[in-house]
Amino acid sequence: MYGLVTVPYTILLSYHADGNHRYIDGKYASLTTDFKRSAAWVLPMNNRYMNETEKVHCLIIGSGPAGYTAAIYASRANLKPVLYQGMQPGGQLTITTEVENYPGYANGVMGPQMMVDFEQQAQRMGADIRWGMATKVDFSSRPLKVEIDEEKWIEADSVIIATGASAKWLGLESEQRLNGHGVSACAVCDGFFFKGQEVAIVGAGDTACEEALYLSKLCSTVHMLVRRDEMRASKVMQARVLKTPNIKVYWNSETVEVLGENKVSGLKIRNTQTGAEQEIPLSAFFVAIGHQPNSALFNGILDMDDQGYLITQPDSSRTNVEGVFACGDVQDKIYRQAVTAAGSGCMAALDAERYLGALEAE
Ligand code: NDP
Repeated sequence: MYGLVTVPYTILLSYHADGNHRYIDGKYASLTTDFKRSAAWVLPMNNRYMNETEKVHCLIIGSGPAGYTAAIYASRANLKPVLYQGMQPGGQLTITTEVENYPGYANGVMGPQMMVDFEQQAQRMGADIRWGMATKVDFSSRPLKVEIDEEKWIEADSVIIATGASAKWLGLESEQRLNGHGVSACAVCDGFFFKGQEVAIVGAGDTACEEALYLSKLCSTVHMLVRRDEMRASKVMQARVLKTPNIKVYWNSETVEVLGENKVSGLKIRNTQTGAEQEIPLSAFFVAIGHQPNSALFNGILDMDDQGYLITQPDSSRTNVEGVFACGDVQDKIYRQAVTAAGSGCMAALDAERYLGALEAE
């Protein structure tokens, strides 16, 4: 999704749900246009908040199930939360299809709709939900300080981090060069543009299977590259993939290069057992090899593991900095489900409430 907005002091903007601009065949392309999102990036350009400092009781960074649930609970506890939505309002669920396993939706729900529901519920409870991104933090003294859009500083009594995780890339030069020109990390967003054509997907987890199945309904053939001789995905997802006639699985296969000058025209792959290379002509290459936590902002400030996941104290959402709490995928590399993210968002709000209560009682 992208939007284009021009207003005084601003520039022409485009925004996509996975944070990447979409540019196909010389034109920006989209499924829908979302002016609200672009507006988020317009406001800072107007220098509206330049040099201002605002005081907030409970600041929430991030807007997936964890952030919105924290906002719902914090609002009901009268913490007057302010939530900044970040680069991808709604988080990873905005780039997924149907969610069948979130309790309460008896007939399933589309991921983007679910996030709209979460946002509306948080707003109804009184959360102040804003477009904007945390760009720097200073947790060295109280109050805690968070910079928004490189323009405005917020002083917060408590901070809840719910920044989630982002798609990983293979790291090939050709993958980067053709990103948005047929290379994508979101089949649900971009599969539509390659209707009736041949495409490939790399990865063998549940995401790759889910996206391969999605693409198989739109595209003529889906070439699926699996780097080992087995898939990591759940058995049920594997079975669905393997019995889909127009998904062709390449076992023990790695991507050597994405082919194409200005847009994807094919893929060069190598069999890791035999060393044999082959080229497959196709129009798009989807990458579905997992995610990395969005925690770079806290490097050297908050404790994290070797993969960058924030470390919280056992049975709590407390980080190593007093008053700073973490929830959702940025601190969970095991479960990574919408419902567990929401549960940990609830925990973070309750922990923040207790912390702020104790602070006031001092
Ligand atoms: P995973 O980490 O589970 O899987 C990543 C896949 O990408 C693995 O098969 C991995 O291979 C492969 N991979 C990683 N790096 C490379 C590389 N450089 N080249 C080729 N292949 C590579 O990530 P997912 O996003 O699939 O899933 C994340 C979590 O979300 C999981 O817990 C999953 O169950 C869950 N999920 C649940 C869904 C549902 O319930 N509907 C839907 C989607 C996800 P290898 O196996 O060899 O390491």
